Amino acid sequence: MINQVEDVVRIPLPVGEEFFIKKHHIESAGDYKKKRICIVTGIHGDELEGQFVCYEVSRRIKELESALDGIIDIYPSMNPFGMDSVTRGIPAFDLDMNRIFPGNFEGDMNEYLAAKIIEELKGADLVIDIHASNIFLTEIPQIRINELDQDSLLPIALKSNMDLIWIHGASTVLESTLAYSLNSTGTKTLVIEMGVGMRITRDYGMQLTDGIFSMMAELGIWNAIPPLCKNPMVSYDSHGTEVCYLNAPCSGIYIKEKDHGSHVDKHELIGKIISPMTGTILSYIEAPESGILFTVREYPVVEDGSLMGRILKDK
Ligand SMILES: [Zn+2]
Repeated sequence: MINQVEDVVRIPLPVGEEFFIKKHHIESAGDYKKKRICIVTGIHGDELEGQFVCYEVSRRIKELESALDGIIDIYPSMNPFGMDSVTRGIPAFDLDMNRIFPGNFEGDMNEYLAAKIIEELKGADLVIDIHASNIFLTEIPQIRINELDQDSLLPIALKSNMDLIWIHGASTVLESTLAYSLNSTGTKTLVIEMGVGMRITRDYGMQLTDGIFSMMAELGIWNAIPPLCKNPMVSYDSHGTEVCYLNAPCSGIYIKEKDHGSHVDKHELIGKIISPMTGTILSYIEAPESGILFTVREYPVVEDGSLMGRILKDK
């Protein structure tokens, strides 16, 4: 058994500091060709939901090391400067790290970094890239898949214990993301979105950890009975408007009336936009359709057009 923290990349900086990305490498004993799963998080430095998942996966493996038959690599902080300074992108460059893949070994430091990350993850049997919405919206645990990759990704995603799998039209998918770069070159990569920025939602972390062990069992990396998992709902952009977007009709302060993840009926009150200045209700927000409120606004200040939630319509 190998169980150690290793360097992925180390770059000296002009101010005498060093930039580095590390991984926790856990590998079952024996010299044979092993399957590998990679858990990646922190590409957006202000999305912290994955931190608990990395911890909990390691903890559970330590508890039952004999069940591991393969390699698990955990990368808790792909954008360490972003995480240190609680910023989404790479600070000082004002750059979203998930817009620079596949990178370039001949490019500047950030492009080099992106190329190094791709080289590191390429060839894994499964990569799980954990994101956490932003500080404005909470998401139920979900996987987002480019429709071009659904044949390769849907079977394993169905074992993920997430609430929702959302299959996006190819035209809405950004080509400069880690997941796009890896999937388009044959390394299966699932993008998880769950919870809210800058926070840890422990229940969601537990739910995804259960899903990771279920997927590891499916791949043959984990020889123990996996946790019982739920069947995710699957929504397709290509099937028309299965998702409704709730946008604010005016500016003000948004007060939620319905909990995240709850089922709402058509015309049910979801929230209100109020004016703290005049003490009036500026707008009642009703569900345009019945369905599951799978995204809700957490950050109360809204402007005309701000996203307040999403509903996955009943079938
Ligand atoms: Zn993100």
